[in-house]
Amino acid sequence: MNFQNAERPAILGGLPIRPEGPPGWPRTDPQVEMAIRNLLATGDWGRYHGPHVPELCRRLAEYQNVEHVLPCSSGTVAVELALRGVGVVEKDEVILAGYDFKANFQNILCLRATPVLVDVDSSTWQLDCEKLSTAITGRTKAILISHLHGGFVDAPKVRQIADSQGIPVIEDICQCPGAMLYGRRAGNWGDVSVLSFGGSKLLTAGRGGAVITPRTDIAERIKRYVHRGNDAYPLSEAQAAIVRPQIDQLDYLNGCRREFVEKLTSKLSDQTGLKALQRPSENLLSAYYKVGFQYFAVEFQDMPRSLFIAALQAEGIAFDSGFRGLHLIHASRRFVAGDELIQASRADSGMLTLHHPVLLEGEDAISEVVAAIEKVRKYAVEIHSAHLTQ
Ligand SMILES: *Cc1c(COP(=O)(O)O)cnc(C)c1O
Repeated sequence: MNFQNAERPAILGGLPIRPEGPPGWPRTDPQVEMAIRNLLATGDWGRYHGPHVPELCRRLAEYQNVEHVLPCSSGTVAVELALRGVGVVEKDEVILAGYDFKANFQNILCLRATPVLVDVDSSTWQLDCEKLSTAITGRTKAILISHLHGGFVDAPKVRQIADSQGIPVIEDICQCPGAMLYGRRAGNWGDVSVLSFGGSKLLTAGRGGAVITPRTDIAERIKRYVHRGNDAYPLSEAQAAIVRPQIDQLDYLNGCRREFVEKLTSKLSDQTGLKALQRPSENLLSAYYKVGFQYFAVEFQDMPRSLFIAALQAEGIAFDSGFRGLHLIHASRRFVAGDELIQASRADSGMLTLHHPVLLEGEDAISEVVAAIEKVRKYAVEIHSAHLTQ
């Protein structure tokens, strides 16, 4: 191997910065291993009902300081149940950001309600509270907020607007369990909030989710819906036993991830082309499932985002695009939008996300991410022209 080849970008045939690729997820975890061994030894893995689901609910209720925890089969189902829990029915309107998880939009349609899309803030690319009031009508039944890619919706502001109009808030914390806003946990701003235990998430059992709420009326409505002599969307004993010990580690691991992101974003702030959606601050303690950045192609010789991502992935760094703008992938008859969703369109084409497993890797990995970005920048013209001529 010659040295020249070693420093060339992997996408042009050079050596990747991380030949082993991005770290996997979930990690091996002795606590989870012990939980699985215990499931085998007791036979609890095969039972309909056992101690693990109730124990997970108790622990989550304590962690979130909330009265009701309703386990379910996925985060997607949790959103549907939350919508049903606040009483969304046909022809109601539900407000959400134009840039959000696709299933959140689909869940609203599934209840034959109308998604009302509002634009996102120009710097954080989270739901823009300034636009919220004008989207509210007599038909608004709920406001759905998702904190995405390490950023935060301004939850106190949403609460204030929602309370003044008597509209319930659904808070999606699938991407940020354990995060804190202004001294209060994410998930404690909604009338009802949703968690995911999906395979890539910070708390994971491969599948699974939960709805949490301080409101007994919401909890009762959801229970009535899911109980049909049998639970229609169950979380299994095995899933619950696997998630349970992860809650004990969550604050510590979130702290490690934040430290990584603080160092990474401060190194990247000396450079151009990648702007963090939200710099960590005292009042906003993120839990990073993805770290979101705004991508500026001009700073990389107009390299399209897709090519930038391919080049970084070839270096072994798990960058990816974010979600699609909901208004760009659904027919306009499916939703209402008060304005042109200009920022949501920018987020659609310009979002870059870094997947979380690398955030637990420490100092060397921070340098690797920075080095990979700089390598791709240095060879931007060559990468771009090589891929134009393919
Ligand atoms: C992952 C996710 C969900 C739901 O996830 P499931 O895979 O269905 O458990 C919901 N909202 C957001 C923002 C998510 O990232």
